[in-house]
Amino acid sequence: MKRENCKILVIGAGPGGYVCAIRAGQLGLDTIVVEASTPGGTCLNVGCIPSKALIHAAEEFHIAAHFAGENDLGISTTKPSIDLAKTVAWKDGIVKRLTGGVSALMKKAKVRSISGHAQIIDGKTVDVDTPEGTVRISTENLVIATGSRPQEIATLPFGGDILSSTAALSLDSVPERLAVVGGGYIGLEIGTAMAKLGAKVTVLEAASRILPQYDADLTRPIMKHLEALGVTVLVGAKAQGFGAGQLTVMTEEGSQKLSADKVLVTVGRAPATDGFGLEGLELTMNGRHLAIDNQCRTSMRSVFAIGDVTGDPMLAHRAMAQGALVAEVVAGGRRTWDKRAMPAVCFTDPEIVTVGMLPSEAPENEVAVFPFAGNGRAMTLGRGDGFVRVVYTKDSELVLGIQAVGVGVSEMAGEFALALEMAATLTDIADTIHAHPTLGETVQEVAMKGLGRALHI
Ligand code: FAD
Repeated sequence: MKRENCKILVIGAGPGGYVCAIRAGQLGLDTIVVEASTPGGTCLNVGCIPSKALIHAAEEFHIAAHFAGENDLGISTTKPSIDLAKTVAWKDGIVKRLTGGVSALMKKAKVRSISGHAQIIDGKTVDVDTPEGTVRISTENLVIATGSRPQEIATLPFGGDILSSTAALSLDSVPERLAVVGGGYIGLEIGTAMAKLGAKVTVLEAASRILPQYDADLTRPIMKHLEALGVTVLVGAKAQGFGAGQLTVMTEEGSQKLSADKVLVTVGRAPATDGFGLEGLELTMNGRHLAIDNQCRTSMRSVFAIGDVTGDPMLAHRAMAQGALVAEVVAGGRRTWDKRAMPAVCFTDPEIVTVGMLPSEAPENEVAVFPFAGNGRAMTLGRGDGFVRVVYTKDSELVLGIQAVGVGVSEMAGEFALALEMAATLTDIADTIHAHPTLGETVQEVAMKGLGRALHI
């Protein structure tokens, strides 16, 4: 058996693991990363990047289809068609470039990469199955960055016409009728893209609203847009089984059948905690996830955990920030997790961004709202729907949360997070000159509105 030693061993090269490994390498730590599949993890291979590529292609197609009909801009074109297999090949090309980039960055940081499935022997020993045989690695510090997998429903097992998000991002043709089980952000992003590509989409959500973690004000513009796209949304609806092109759906009114060619199941993601000897470490769990402290240490001192395996919010940028933190802690840095802001974006149509507290989470505080209808740039984009909202303390005008729903608001996530991270007050934002004409002016305006001096409303 081949043997290796290192200071820090990372299992999983997703956004958490690869960032941890690169940062560890930069800090001069002898680092090994083990990845069973392609570097980049869920995010680069079957998550963030491929879904946004599909969303972009669908939007382009939708725009082209729009201009084939009557429109205010005076543009005319012929009815477009789509070769989805070619779109998917284009998406795969982007993924390949990015995953290749991750490998190159790890190499540049002098990280040793081992391809294969890691099996934990104990807190300082891991075996890796490689085509050349087993490699036994001894490490001073172990980082679990194994991520998550799509959650199945027992009555709707993945395979055939029942799709996980992974399968839905690699279809070679647009399904005529698509049922999406689960109205969270992943289901809505892919469902909206498919509707724009011409599928007849029905979204089933067990809760009383889509995106149930957000308030109705934030989700209303999305509901309106889904309706305009011809998407049917059934709330309080549970899918129970699928056969012969019929999905059985339970609603308050009883059981009904829904015709569908494909069923996309997006009811959450399960942490990858089994199948690699983790249970042998008997680490403290937080529900299904690994429990960690404010340095991402598990209950075993030299074993760290980062990313989706540690629970919500399961987001790539959280995994990356945790990865960098762990590398710095192992290098002797006195770092702890002290983030005030964790932006979350839904790439729906329109998009939603949330950072910090929602109004319902800070009921004793103040809220100001500014609509995109009062923003010139939104008008020039033909999209005045949505708003920016700020939650702030009454006495000191400290910003506690910022949310937005509207076209292109994902690009405002950085400004929102910066405001919270730097403990901005309304005056800080209101007195910052925002370029004209940009959607970002709404952030300045909403702060001015909170201060009682909004100009464009
Ligand atoms: P992962 O990315 O899951 O990586 C874990 C890696 O570990 C995998 O490569 C796996 O092969 C490897 N591994 C597991 N076990 C072993 C083992 N025993 N041996 C060796 N290797 C192993 N997040 C966002 O922030 N923004 C988005 O827009 C967004 N969109 C998404 C869209 C979709 C469709 C999906 C599914 C997810 C999306 N996410 C998004 C979530 C994001 O992808 C995850 O939060 C992120 O990838 C988590 O990173 P991670 O490093 O914890 O784990």
